Amino acid sequence: MQLNKNYQNLEESYLFSTVARKTREFSAAHPEADIIKLSIGDVTLPLAPAVISAMHAAVDEQAAQATFHGYGPEQGYDFLKESIRDYYAGHGVTLAADEIFISDGAKSDLGNILDLFAQDNTVLVPDPVYPVYVDTNTMAGRRILFMDANETNGFLPLPDPSVKADLIYLCSPNNPTGAAYDRAGLKAWVQYAKAQGAVILFDAAYECFIQDENLPRSIYEIEGAKECAIEFCSFSKMAGFTGTRCGWTVVPEALTDGEQSVNKMWLRRQTTKFNGVPYVVQRGAAAAFTPEGQAQIQMALDYYRENARVLSEMLDELGVWYTGGKNSPYLWLRCPSEMDAWRFFDYLLENAHVVGTPGAGFGRNGSFFFRLTAFGDQQRTREAAERFKQCVRAL
Ligand code: PLP
Repeated sequence: MQLNKNYQNLEESYLFSTVARKTREFSAAHPEADIIKLSIGDVTLPLAPAVISAMHAAVDEQAAQATFHGYGPEQGYDFLKESIRDYYAGHGVTLAADEIFISDGAKSDLGNILDLFAQDNTVLVPDPVYPVYVDTNTMAGRRILFMDANETNGFLPLPDPSVKADLIYLCSPNNPTGAAYDRAGLKAWVQYAKAQGAVILFDAAYECFIQDENLPRSIYEIEGAKECAIEFCSFSKMAGFTGTRCGWTVVPEALTDGEQSVNKMWLRRQTTKFNGVPYVVQRGAAAAFTPEGQAQIQMALDYYRENARVLSEMLDELGVWYTGGKNSPYLWLRCPSEMDAWRFFDYLLENAHVVGTPGAGFGRNGSFFFRLTAFGDQQRTREAAERFKQCVRAL
């Protein structure tokens, strides 16, 4: 046998392990320190009651022969696909149920979709960004080009027509920067992709945080996007499904290469390599779209939004430059006093006993930036904001 040598080109990710080690070491040396983590990328509130009762009912169905469900459709049950279709219709996007594929989360499909594309495709990825895009393409041995996201473009890079790319990753609202494209920005990307004959892989995992009516929640709000974009979304942040696992991928019928339908290829891929998401989980996910479920998940999102507001207010008061915090659970700030990201991490841990995430772990352009998240406890987040303020003022 021969191994896939591309794996040797993967960079070790030391980000979260180093954050954890440094925090552990500090805690061991200062057992009295009350450490607050603003580094959590995971939700902390439980599933909504409507989701829980739908899952309980589905478990009971599995207990009786008359209502038992074995293998389901690989691409997901109609009841969930139809709920998602209606959710899109709510923000003006018309999809057919067959364009929606239920997944066990956005991460799997972001990796799996690459089965459909040739190995010699060139990939365009923003720097900084969620590391999965780079790693999955590195595993496949594809050439990766980076586009600079920085303070000048508000961490929302626009296309450079002189750059040739086949697969383009966009993540909006972005992890880690919290920055979200407006319609004009996404329109520029759609036009560029169509001119290049490229496909946009649009990661909308945080669309549920968008409140500003002027910001698109789906790339399909942009005319022509169905001919050039695949969208990935998730119940993880929307409904607290990080540990329950459910998401979806939209592959429009209009996305083709000549006669070849990408939707049909993806259906073939999924029916061959995937046996679907558990019935119980899909019932829970569908309950998130009922009026009761929506009211409950909006309450949870509002809880996180309040944390984001507190953190934004703190940065505003300090006059620190940042993106995100609005329409996003992430805040991405320029480290004060020109510290690099790891120096600021240490400074904050030692002086405020607050843990954040150094931007250096998300790409070269993150070297002097820092990510805070709004997924924590409200009282603790307020306390952390106070300590952060004092500690930065002391600089
Ligand atoms: N996309 C982005 C940008 C993320 O930040 C995450 C998780 O943090 C995911 C996708 C993964 O989502 P899921 O839990 O649905 O796999």
